[in-house]
Amino acid sequence: MALLMQEIIRKVRDRQPVSSEEIQFYIQGVTDGSVSEGQIAAFCMAVFLNPLTMPERTALTLAMRDSGDSLNWQQMNLNGPVLDKHSTGGVGDVVSLMLAPMLAACGGYVPMISGRGLGHTGGTLDKLQSIKGFNPFPAVADMQRIVKEHGCAIIGQTANLAPADRKIYATRDVTATVESITLITASILSKKLAEGLDSLVMDVKVGNGAFMPTYEQSQELAQSIANVATRAGCPTTALLTDMNQVLASSAGNAVEVREAVRYLRGDYRNPRLHEATLALCAELLVNGKLAHNREEARAKLQTVLDNSEAVERFNRMVHAQGGAADFCEHFEQLLPTAPIVKPLFAPRTGVVCGMDTRAVGIAVIQLGGGRRVADDAINHSVGFDHILPVGAHADAHTPLAVIHAQSEDDWQAAAAAYLAAVKIGDHAPEPLPVVYETRHASPV
Ligand code: URA
Repeated sequence: MALLMQEIIRKVRDRQPVSSEEIQFYIQGVTDGSVSEGQIAAFCMAVFLNPLTMPERTALTLAMRDSGDSLNWQQMNLNGPVLDKHSTGGVGDVVSLMLAPMLAACGGYVPMISGRGLGHTGGTLDKLQSIKGFNPFPAVADMQRIVKEHGCAIIGQTANLAPADRKIYATRDVTATVESITLITASILSKKLAEGLDSLVMDVKVGNGAFMPTYEQSQELAQSIANVATRAGCPTTALLTDMNQVLASSAGNAVEVREAVRYLRGDYRNPRLHEATLALCAELLVNGKLAHNREEARAKLQTVLDNSEAVERFNRMVHAQGGAADFCEHFEQLLPTAPIVKPLFAPRTGVVCGMDTRAVGIAVIQLGGGRRVADDAINHSVGFDHILPVGAHADAHTPLAVIHAQSEDDWQAAAAAYLAAVKIGDHAPEPLPVVYETRHASPV
């Protein structure tokens, strides 16, 4: 008997089970346009109110993944696992730029499909576009060749990546149905699983700069993603990590690329960024069977940092995607710089006691480093660096941050926003963990 869309919506509305066949029918209809926008909206609201079971979420994720192209690595004869990370997004979250070459140097293959900045959070794609000549949209065959030869490539979303998600997301955005754990899980994973991964690690942020509003909701999303991805055949671990301050010592685009290169070269490693990067990489090395345990994984990662193999992989990737062959040697001259670069000092001597991380992300947008509307051009040179972390001492010689701005007026506005976002007190608060907890798939 032919399936009816309104009957499928009714079942979700009434908390009755829906079959994989019914879910595939819905996604097929979304993709070919036979399901109306009203029906997409009704389905999303029904799911928002009545979350799907894990098997139903898995069916939804796989159907959405299969609405477009997936990467196939079979014919590439890779001699290691295909790995990737996804983050719910943060401020100064530059982990991807280090993680991809570090995993590649340890024997993994990383075909990372990255996005633009979303809301107050930065986007890996925007950061990489600070690099002169960098091509984030190579043909799929070229991307696969780059991954095979150099171990990693970071590209933007192609038009035919999970097209059902694009349509559903557009409707969710205008029907108050974005904040559904079921729909977020399927949306994120439909795109990530299309990379043909052997393992994924998910970085779910927690805190005042995080996408999820509460710790409990971050936990729920982490568990949902670990369960669904693992059931879909991609062993996945989810880490809950802190976003109660900017993760790196910089926030912006070129400023974050600079920090990533310095990190890989060993010039400077922000300790919290280092811990988050090692923890996420180690999960993948263990799940991808490139290390027996996390200790061995961390030792391997330290080795490829120390012997410059990781920075070399980054350099090779940048060059293969159109950047300079000696990018990591001359990055200071090759990245754009803002006309005004000046330190911001605290109004009084004291300790950084807290940071409104979301507000710092918004300040980056206001400097021109992010978008106010979807088709805004980005100024890659602006942002903050030398950011003092929570717990550090600020005085007349130690600035809170250095602001990179296009004009003196922009600098003043960013300074006011930053001072409002940072709390200065007399005593350092208890440091928060970098990684709060790790979620594995629960038994079926
Ligand atoms: N990011 C996505 O890709 N999808 C969501 O639903 C939320 C965040």
